[in-house]
This record gives sequence, structure tokens and C-alpha cells, in this order.
Amino acid sequence: MGVDIDKIFEQQDYYGIRLESIGGLGANLCGKMVGELAVRYLNLNSAGFSSYGSEKTGTPVKGYIRFCPPEKEIRVHSPVVNPDLLVIFHQALMRDPSVWKGCSDRTTVIIALDQGQEEAMMQNLPDIMKECYVVNARQIAMETKSRINVVMLGAMAKVMGFVELEAARQICRDNLGRKYPAALEGNLKGLEQGYGQVQRLNETSFGRLKKCAGSESTTPDNGQEWGYATAPIGGVNPRSGSTVTADLSPSRQGYVPIFLKERCINCGLCDSTCPDMVFQFAKGTYNGREMMVNQGLDYYHCKGCMRCVDVCPVNALVRGMEAEHPDKKYFMPNQDMLRTPDYYVKAGPDGYITSESYLTEKRIEGGEV
Ligand code: SF4
Ligand code: SF4
Repeated sequence: MGVDIDKIFEQQDYYGIRLESIGGLGANLCGKMVGELAVRYLNLNSAGFSSYGSEKTGTPVKGYIRFCPPEKEIRVHSPVVNPDLLVIFHQALMRDPSVWKGCSDRTTVIIALDQGQEEAMMQNLPDIMKECYVVNARQIAMETKSRINVVMLGAMAKVMGFVELEAARQICRDNLGRKYPAALEGNLKGLEQGYGQVQRLNETSFGRLKKCAGSESTTPDNGQEWGYATAPIGGVNPRSGSTVTADLSPSRQGYVPIFLKERCINCGLCDSTCPDMVFQFAKGTYNGREMMVNQGLDYYHCKGCMRCVDVCPVNALVRGMEAEHPDKKYFMPNQDMLRTPDYYVKAGPDGYITSESYLTEKRIEGGEV
């Protein structure tokens, strides 16, 4: 495990890292820490930046970091298109073809993957990469009361090989110790477990992993790159976390609010507090009176912020581990927005309305409007 960074600098100008994440998982801070770590503790030069939209939990986030020898100036400040290390902070992102952009036979990939998801994950891997590692970041973060970003930092340190664990620990102390001293111990544990538990995928068991020397970059064949000719009209974004799929479940970090309907007094505080209109109220009867009654939650919209749990006056909403509640009892999809989330994802970016739709609209299920 690990790369010879000096050898890499003999062959190329930079060692490039790309982080693919979702707002709320801490990739921005992780990227800053990785960049700082290189300068302060590895005697390297580094530059990095993140790209994110509204900073809302659940929106796509990308982080870019470049390393180079200390005497070299970094004059490139564009996104890392062909990464040496690609770090995916949530398994749901693997369905997005843009996440794999520029992945080649020199790319090592680390994926935050829940236990038992390896086989399912294989369908989303590109054909070409150098190596693939997985770490159950969500579970480690929950057990250590840390966050996914420090677990991924630990995994990155181990996989890169030229980063000592102590250097990673120190950069955590420098950044998190000052800002969040009470959380430092848990974060250090999360970092150490990420370092210790990251595992290389077995190429024999997962036959699709091929080392193809000299191959061109690739993306999975279920997708299509977006450009001016293929972008959906009106800028509609059909990816995970977007308004089309309205599926914010990838933003959750292992916990969901569990509704105990028998305790609910239908006060509506959860509905006023929830930022994502998760609660579904409908006309009904409570204590013999006609009123709006809480029917349940549209978990597609829930990003797991737990504000509703904090605000409920009678503990009718409690924090639960999502893995222990695969069939959520009061899962009530918003009846005004019924949709199948995968409908748009599977169709690819051109499947919703084609770029020629200023003339006619070609619908995914066939036919024209
Ligand atoms: S805040 Fe609690 S009691 Fe009030 S409507 Fe929501 S779940 Fe029911
Ligand atoms: S945790 Fe509660 S407040 Fe937060 S998004 Fe989910 S339902 Fe809404």
C-alpha cells in the first residue's frame, strides 16, 4: 500500500487528489487539512480549493488538492481532472458518472462504503483504475462520535503511504483541537480507525477491476458527459441530491428521525422546523376534533439534521440508527411530488428533455410533445 511520491514527481509535475462528496460530510475541511498537512509535515508544496454551490447539506461538493516538490511553484489552479487519488465520501455518489471523470490506470480510488455493499458497488465502478480501497466511514464515524471527513483523512494517509499517521493526527489537533476541543478525542479515534480499517478490494473477487496500462480515461457506460449539446434544458440537474430526484438520503450520516405516532399531539412544530418539508400533514381527527394530522415523513427529503427531534415537545420523534430501521414505519412520500428517484438517474442527463427540445420535447418513455 502506498506510492513513492519522489518517483511520481520524476514522471509528472503534480500529485493530484480529487474529493467527491456531499455537503455536510466535511470534505471541504478535509481538503484544507490535507493541503496544510503536506506543507507543514511532509515538506511538500500544495494548493487546493473546493467547489460547492449553496453549501446546503446534500449538495454536491468537490475538493481539489495538488502536491509538488517544495522548490516548485504551483501555477495550476484548475480542477484536478485526472486524479492520482480519487476519494468518494459516500457510496451513493458512485452512480454519478461525473464522479469518475478522468479516472485512469494511474488512479487509486478510496470509497466510503457501508458493510456488505461491495457486490452492489461493483456495478458502478469504471473499468479502469489502478487500485480500489474501501472503508466503512459512516459506521466508524458513528462509533467514535467523529465525522466522516476525519475517517477519510485517516484512510487517505494510509493509502497514500507517504503520510505518517502521526502527521495526520497532528493536523487534526492543529485544526480541530482549537475549534472543537471537546470533539478532538473522538475525531482522533475516527482518524486512527480510518487509517487502520481501510481495505484494498480484492481484484480476484471483483473481476471488473482491470489494470490497463496506457488506457484512456473512462467513465462507466451508464452515463454520458454533460456539455452544451447534452445538458438538460433549463439546467435541470438529475443527480443525487438534486431537485429532480429530491432524494437527500445520501446526506444522512447514519441517523434518521423515527416517528412514534402514538405519542404525537399534532402540534406541527416539526413541520415548521424542518427545512426540507419532510412532514406530511393531512386532514384527520385527533382527540375527537377535526384537524391537520401528522401522517408521517417523506424520508426522500430528510437530510438527517435532527432539528425535528430537538423541537418535538413529547418525544414523538427520536433519533434512530438508519441501519436498524430499513423499513421505516411512517414513510409517507409527499403525494404532490410522487416520483421514482432512479427514473431520471438511469436515463442519464439527456433522458429528461433533450437539448433539441426547443423544437420538440422527447420524453424518456418515448413520444414527443
Ligand atoms: S413536533 Fe412532535 S408532537 Fe408535534 S406534530 Fe411533530 S411529531 Fe407530533
Ligand atoms: S431530520 Fe427532521 S428536521 Fe432534519 S430534514 Fe429530517 S425530518 Fe427535517
